[in-house]
Amino acid sequence: MRHDAWFRDAETGTGRWELDEIIYRSPTGGLLEVTHDIEALKSRSPAAWMQLWDSRYKRTMWPFGSGVWGKKEIVLPNIPDEDIVSLDEGGTNLFWADRFGREIGVPDLWVKQCGVSHTGSFKDLGMTVLVSQVNHLMKSGKQPGILGVACASTGDTSAALAAYCAAAGIPAVVLLPRGKISPAQLIQPIANNALTLALDTDFDGCMRVVQQLTEDRKLYLANSMNSLRVEGQKTVAIEMVQQFDWEVPDWVIIPGGNLGNVSALYKGFEEILALGIINRIPTIVCAQAEAANPLYRAYKSGWREFHAITAGETQASAIRIGDPVSRSKAIKALMRHDGKVEQASEQEIADAMARADRTGLFNCPHTGVALAAMLKFIARGEIKKGHRVVVVSTAHGLKFGESKAKYHTNTLPGITPTYANPPVELAAKVDAVYDAVMRHMERTRP
Ligand SMILES: *Cc1c(COP(=O)(O)O)cnc(C)c1O
Repeated sequence: MRHDAWFRDAETGTGRWELDEIIYRSPTGGLLEVTHDIEALKSRSPAAWMQLWDSRYKRTMWPFGSGVWGKKEIVLPNIPDEDIVSLDEGGTNLFWADRFGREIGVPDLWVKQCGVSHTGSFKDLGMTVLVSQVNHLMKSGKQPGILGVACASTGDTSAALAAYCAAAGIPAVVLLPRGKISPAQLIQPIANNALTLALDTDFDGCMRVVQQLTEDRKLYLANSMNSLRVEGQKTVAIEMVQQFDWEVPDWVIIPGGNLGNVSALYKGFEEILALGIINRIPTIVCAQAEAANPLYRAYKSGWREFHAITAGETQASAIRIGDPVSRSKAIKALMRHDGKVEQASEQEIADAMARADRTGLFNCPHTGVALAAMLKFIARGEIKKGHRVVVVSTAHGLKFGESKAKYHTNTLPGITPTYANPPVELAAKVDAVYDAVMRHMERTRP
C-alpha cells in the first residue's frame, strides 16, 4: 500500500510542494503543514491501523520500535528506512499520578512523560523526523547544497538538534539567548559538538536571526515553523490514546511557547479522527507563564486580537517567547475545537511543580505551568472528579535542577516556597541524626 505526503499552505489548505524541497513558508508568507493522503490511508480499517501500530510499539524491529517511526505511514511515509536517524524516541511512560490525583480530587490523572527521552525533552520527537529528512536529502544527492542544520532555541530544541545531527554526522549550528537557558541545556549542544552561538538577545531575537541566516538554503532551518517537526510531535496525541487502549481522555493540558506543540497535538488527534480510530477530540488546554502569555491575552480578547509581547523572566525558560511562530496554526486549531488557554504566575508554577514532585514526579517548570493551569480548572469545577486528565510533561526535571534547588532553599526571588524541603545539615553523630529523623516523622505523620 502506497500513500503520499506533501507540504501545503496551512492558512489556506491549498498548494502542493514536495517534502524534498527546501521550503518553510508559502509564497504568501504563511506557514506550511505536511498533508497526508487520508483517503489512501483509509484503505486500511481503523482496527487494522490499531493492530499494526500495537504490533510495533516498543518492539525490536528497527526503526518501528520508536514511538514516532512505529507510525511511519502517517509521519514520513516515503523516506527509506536506512535514511532514518532514530534514537528510539517516544514510547514514554504515561504516569498514573494516582496519589497526586486523589489529593486534588481528580483520581484519573495521568502525566505523559515526554521528557524521559534521549535529550530530555519532547523535542526529540520532532527532531528525529527533521534530521532524518535532511539526512535523506543529503545522502540521496537531492539537495547537494545543504551544509548543515541550524536552529534558534530556548534550550531543548538545540539539545535535540545537536544530538540527532551528531548521531548522523551532520553539522549543527545552534543560536541561544545568552544567559537565558539552564546550564544543563547549554552543555548539551556543546557536548554533542554543535557550533553553539550565545547571542545577546532573547529567543525571539535568535529566531529573527536564524530565519535570515537560513534564507540562502545552505543551512536547513530546524525550528518548529518547519512543519516536518510537527509530524513527529503529533505522535504524542496518538501514543497517549494508544496507551489508554485507544480510548480518548477528556482533557489534555500542555505548556505552550512557540505553539508548535499544541498545533501538533491537535494535528495528531484530527488525523486519527479522520481515520476513524477515535470519535472525539479531548478538550485541550494550552498553558502559558504569565510572564510570556501572548496567547492567553488573545484568548481573553475572544480571539479578536493578537499582539506579540516582550516576554519577561520566568522559571519556565523554554516557553519564554513573546512572538510565537506557530500562533496562527495554534489559534485556528484552538478555535476549531473550543480549546482553552490558561496562565500561571511564578508562585503558582513553582508550588504546583513542587507539590506534584512530593507524590513521586520530578517536574520541569513547564510541566509546572500545565499543572498550575490544571489546578485552576479543577478549582472552577470545569475539570470534574470523573474526568480523565492528561498533563503533557515536556522536559525532564533534571534539566532544571538549579531552579528546583533554589525553590527548596528559599532563594527564588519573590517566591514563598509552600512545599520547600531543604536539606538538613548536621554533625555526623547518631544522636543528632536520630533526633532529626524523629522530629521529621512527628511532623509528617499522616
Ligand atoms: C519547546 C518547549 C515547550 C514549548 O513548546 P512550543 O512548541 O514551543 O509551544 C514547552 N516545554 C519545554 C520543556 C520545551 O522545551
